[in-house]
Amino acid sequence: MPINLKNYHHIVVLTGAGISVASGIRTFRGPGGLWEDIDPMIYATHEALLETPLMVWKLFGVLRTQLKTHGPNPAHNYLADIEKQLSNEHQFTLITQNIDGLHLAAGSINVVEMHGAIQRTRCSNEFCQLKPFEDDDPHTEVLPTCPICHAPLRPDIVLFNEFLSEDVERRCHTALLDVDLFIAIGTSGVVYPAASFVHSAYRKHARTILINLEPMDPPNPYFMEETIGKAEECLPELITV
Ligand code: NAD
Repeated sequence: MPINLKNYHHIVVLTGAGISVASGIRTFRGPGGLWEDIDPMIYATHEALLETPLMVWKLFGVLRTQLKTHGPNPAHNYLADIEKQLSNEHQFTLITQNIDGLHLAAGSINVVEMHGAIQRTRCSNEFCQLKPFEDDDPHTEVLPTCPICHAPLRPDIVLFNEFLSEDVERRCHTALLDVDLFIAIGTSGVVYPAASFVHSAYRKHARTILINLEPMDPPNPYFMEETIGKAEECLPELITV
C-alpha cells in the first residue's frame, strides 16, 4: 500500500548496502553480494585491524577508488527529494549503515552515518590527538601510519565487534523515541544494533515496512509490510509526499 509521508510525524528510514547496488557498489549479502576476494566476515573486524591491518585497507580501500566514479542513484536521490518536501511538522531521520557517503552526496540532510564514512581516515590509537581527516588514497598496498604516534591509520568506519560512537547512539535513540513510521531499505537485517531498530519502532506502534530485493531470512515478525523489489524502482511507487 502506498505510504504518504505527510500522514506521519516522526519518520525513520534505515538503509543498508542494497540501496547502493544501483550505484555499482556491492553488498555483503544477497544475490551478487559476495566481496569474493576478501571475506568481510574475517577482515571487516576489529580483530583483523589488530592483527592484519593492511587487509582491512585491502577490503575497504577499493571502495574509495570506486567512489571517485560511482555516485548516488535514483533511490538516494528520491530519499533526498522527499525529505526536502516535508515541512517542519515532520521529523525525518535517515539512518544508514552504509559507509559510502552517497546519501549526503545526494543531498539528504538529517543523515546518521551509523558506521562512519570510508572517505575519512583516523588513527587506530584511540588516545592519539590526530583528528579524522578526508583521504582518497585507498592504501591497499602500503599500511599508512600516524604522523603523530606511528600507530597504523585506519578507515574512519565501525568494524564488526566495535562500538558505535556515543553521538550516533544518541541520535538513533532520539529518532526512534516517537517514531510512527519506520522504513528499512536494502538491508539483510543481520547486523546489530541496526537490526533491532524495527523492534523498537514496533513497540512504539509505528507502521513498519521493509523494502528489499529478497525476503528477510528468517522472517522478522516486527515488519508489518514487506515489498520485494529493487529500491531504485520501488521507492517512487511506494512512498509519496
Ligand atoms: P547486506 O549486504 O547484509 O544486505 C544487503 C541487502 O540488500 C540484501 O538482503 C539484498 O537482498 C538487498 N539488495 C540488493 N540489491 C538491492 C536493491 N537494488 N534494492 C533493495 N535491496 C537490495 O547489507 P547490510 O544489511 O547493510 O549490512 C552489511 C554491513 O555492510 C553494513 O554494516 C554496511 O555498513 C556494510 N556495507 C556497506 C556498503 C556500502 O557502504 N555501500 C556495502 C557493503 C557493505
